[in-house]
Amino acid sequence: MRLVVLGGGESGVGTAILGKEKGYDVFVSDFGKIKQSYKDVLIKNGVDWEDEKHTESLILNADVVMKSPGIPEKAPIVKKLVEKGIPVISEIEFAAPFTKAITIGITGSNGKTTTTMLTYHLLQSAGLNVGLAGNIGKSFAEQVAEDKYDSYVLELSSFQLDGIINYKPHIAIITNISPDHLDRYDYKYENYIDSKFRITMNQTEEDYLIYDADDEAISEWLQKNKTRAKLIPFSLTKTFEEGAFIKNNTMEVIINQEEFKMETESIALEGKHNLKNAMAATSVAKLMQIRKATIRESLSNFQGVEHRLEKVLKIQNVQYINDSKATNVNATFFALDSMNTPTVWIVGGVDKGNDYNELMALVREKVKAIICLGVDNRKIIDAFGNVVDMMIEVQSMREAVIMAQRLTEKGDTVLLSPACASFDLFENYEDRGRQFKEAVQNL
Ligand code: ADP
Repeated sequence: MRLVVLGGGESGVGTAILGKEKGYDVFVSDFGKIKQSYKDVLIKNGVDWEDEKHTESLILNADVVMKSPGIPEKAPIVKKLVEKGIPVISEIEFAAPFTKAITIGITGSNGKTTTTMLTYHLLQSAGLNVGLAGNIGKSFAEQVAEDKYDSYVLELSSFQLDGIINYKPHIAIITNISPDHLDRYDYKYENYIDSKFRITMNQTEEDYLIYDADDEAISEWLQKNKTRAKLIPFSLTKTFEEGAFIKNNTMEVIINQEEFKMETESIALEGKHNLKNAMAATSVAKLMQIRKATIRESLSNFQGVEHRLEKVLKIQNVQYINDSKATNVNATFFALDSMNTPTVWIVGGVDKGNDYNELMALVREKVKAIICLGVDNRKIIDAFGNVVDMMIEVQSMREAVIMAQRLTEKGDTVLLSPACASFDLFENYEDRGRQFKEAVQNL
């Protein structure tokens, strides 16, 4: 059997290692440059590879192809493979049959990483032999090759789900759905929604789908379509006989007639969106029969993930918050929603077709000044120019933070929550968040 791996990054190299171990004739091809450290791994494992080209004669003879998530389906080489009827699958699809471990698959437009890390924290603190993979950290396929874990928590993007045929998680979570990455889905929101729901398409009656019952796109899909999985809803506004909800400032999770309760105040993560993430992760913990005391402790000590509503410093009683990972309007909505003091808001970058109207009410209520940090800020200025008293444009993070400090008084908050991608002025969202933290530390 010939396995061709397209893309020589973390998931590609991991898949190559697993394929080799399972006796495949493996070839890795990357149109860009493969990092030296990955080349070394391929050489050490006796895997053939090429980079900065795709040699068709070595690729179109594959029995199966693993495509890395970053390569679009429209890439000419992928089109040729599909035309020839060669299965093009994702890392999860290739690796899952080689492990008996159960998997918990987490997808959604926002909150994947936070929910994945929190779920992993809950299960690991309970002493389960659990691994973490997907979009995070070390390749799932490589960990399967090492065969160390009984279960895995996997962060799954829609690109990974597009490449599954038979894969099913025992427990699936859809955190929420809002328009994102539409360029990869022919600008059709339905296609993107369908892609997220692939997470449940192979689930059976013994499996579970945990989902946000407040989310319009999710509710609509569930009305029109069927899944065999047992449904576990969570909501900020409704209550359920089975599911997770908030009542009298208490989070309640009822599963298999067993109830877990915890005051929301004792949950370390802040913001309504994080209550949702906590309800989803706790539902998994209950399904995995984790003890209540362990769940309680883990929820009260989980400090969140870097660049996601991360508290940086308090200077002269002004709190600085780094939410650089907010690259769409929905994420920024929840950031603004969780602000309790007058806020100087740093926003902007590469707009992905944002509709700023969704933020209007929150901006009126909470934002005292806007600092536009982007190459092209026209849309933001048009949207909010008449809504806030102060609005300025800057071209660097240092300037943004210095201006923000000037505009604040004791008790205010400075929030970086860009609602945009970062590629105009920064390498990526991590770079943007780090520059923010550095600038704050230098104040
Ligand atoms: P993802 O991995 O899906 O991008 P992250 O956990 O990295 O999600 O969070 C991305 C952004 O979305 C951050 O700004 C974070 O504060 C915000 N966020 C986290 N959880 C949610 C949620 N449930 N709903 C909306 N926004 C969220």
